[in-house]
Order: sequence, then structure tokens, then C-alpha cells
Amino acid sequence: MTFITRFAPSPTGPLHLGHAYSAMLAHDRAQAEGGTFLLRIDDLDQSRARDHWEAQIYDDLAWLGLTWETPVRRQSDHFADYDATLRKLSEMGLTYACTCTRRDIEAAANAPQEGVPQFGPDGRIYPGTCRDAGHPYSDAKCIRLNMRAACEPALPAHFEESGPDHSGTHALDLDAMVSTVGDVVLARPNMAASYHLSVVLDDAATGVTDIIRGADLFEATAVHVVLQNLLGLPTPSYHHHKLIRDEKGKRLAKRDDARAIAKYREEGATPADIRAMVGL
Ligand code: GLU
Ligand code: ZN
Repeated sequence: MTFITRFAPSPTGPLHLGHAYSAMLAHDRAQAEGGTFLLRIDDLDQSRARDHWEAQIYDDLAWLGLTWETPVRRQSDHFADYDATLRKLSEMGLTYACTCTRRDIEAAANAPQEGVPQFGPDGRIYPGTCRDAGHPYSDAKCIRLNMRAACEPALPAHFEESGPDHSGTHALDLDAMVSTVGDVVLARPNMAASYHLSVVLDDAATGVTDIIRGADLFEATAVHVVLQNLLGLPTPSYHHHKLIRDEKGKRLAKRDDARAIAKYREEGATPADIRAMVGL
């Protein structure tokens, strides 16, 4: 069996201990399986991606002792592919133009019904205001996936999870997809594809068989499986790992510069120290 996994950081800040854990875990697994470890640069958000952060990603990972296949895939080289896929989904009648502002969405969601979830993998669940409005795409603030319509051809579907929190087989459920995920964003005028659309295409294009990433992305996986099925792409196996937290129990964020790998390096830590800090 081929085993291909990847680490896919965004070059929008320094890598911290959480990234080091994710990268080393994936790298170690690939090595143990006699497989391949890929590095991908998720620079979808061109307003925040910076060359110097990308350079530091290479530097930090090499310092940690990791090696990866080259050339490295960069999302910004594939905007045309994302666009073509978006068109395909639109031609299938599964997308629509949404003209809502953030404020419109907040206002429409302001009368919450008891027992109905309000937040999904992308934050507030879209109330569906524009779903049947037929707005022209030229007016769109974003393009959304009509989840109910998408589930019709995409389901039944399931994925295998081997992470510590949700280990097992997960079958997708239509009602849950509609009520707890909803009509997710696929693209915006200034962004060729959303996170969901881009990672599904990138992972398939690079033959990834096993996705190893943080537990914060577990809820998004069902969206990815729907997209894979709509596009006739294989569903990889998933492993969502624990998140590295600070001593107050808060998960590390990009702005946690105090825990940047570069900072530890500066202070004289070794790669073995970093492994020990994250429990590897
Ligand atoms: N680029 C994403 C991030 O920085 C990770 C993508 C993924 O693992 O699916 O969190
Ligand atoms: Zn809308």
C-alpha cells in the first residue's frame, strides 16, 4: 500500500510548537510506513501570505530534521484549477451567489431556535437567505455550496478516522450536514477558493492517502468528503491529532510568537528538546 501524507502550513506567521508536532507526527508516520511526506504551502490568502514566512517554514522544518519531496506545491500556483472546479460545481447546479454581509448573516441568525446549532466548522451556520434568490455571480460576496442539493449525489458517504478523539468509521448524515454544517463558502471575489475546496483538490492532485492534521479540522472533514464525492475524487484516511496547548490550556495560535520554533532555536533549544516538549 502506498502511504502519502502531507503538512500544509499557511505562510502567514511563524511556525509554533503545534505546527512542529503536526509536521513531525506526519513525517514520522510516513517514515514508519515506508511512505512519502509532502510539504505544501497553503498560501490561498494572498493578502496575508509572505515570502519571508514561507522561507522560515523551510528553515524551521529542515532544522527539525525533516525532509520532503520537491517541488513543493503552492496553492497560489493553482488558482485556475480551483476556478475550473468551481465552475463545474456551478454547472451541476450546486452553488449560488450570496450577497450577504457578515452583519446580514448575524441579523438573520438573531432569533435562535432552541436546540438548533448556530455554529459549524466555518463559524456561524449560514441561514440560507440567498439560496433561492438567483443573484448574479457578478454581485456575489461569496459563492456557497447548496449543501442539501450537494448531498443528494454525494451521499451515502463515510470516512475512516484514526485520531484519539473520534476513532472509527463516520457515516455522513444528510440532516446533520444541512443543520450542523450548512451552505459553506467555496470562493470569494478576492480568494480563488475557500479552504475546503482548495485542500480537497490539492490532496487529490498530490495523491495524498492519509491526512494527519489538528483536531480543530475534524468538523470540516465531512465537507471535504462531500466535495470529494461530487468531484469523483478518492477519500483519504484521516487522523486528527491532539492540539498543543499553553500552560493555561489554550490552544496555540499564530500570534503565540513566544512559542515560535524560531524563538526556541534562538534560545538554544535542540530539535530533541522540541520533540520532548510536544510529547514525541
Ligand atoms: N493550511 C491549513 C492550516 O494552516 C491546513 C490544511 C489541512 O491540513 O487540511 O491550518
Ligand atoms: Zn446571502
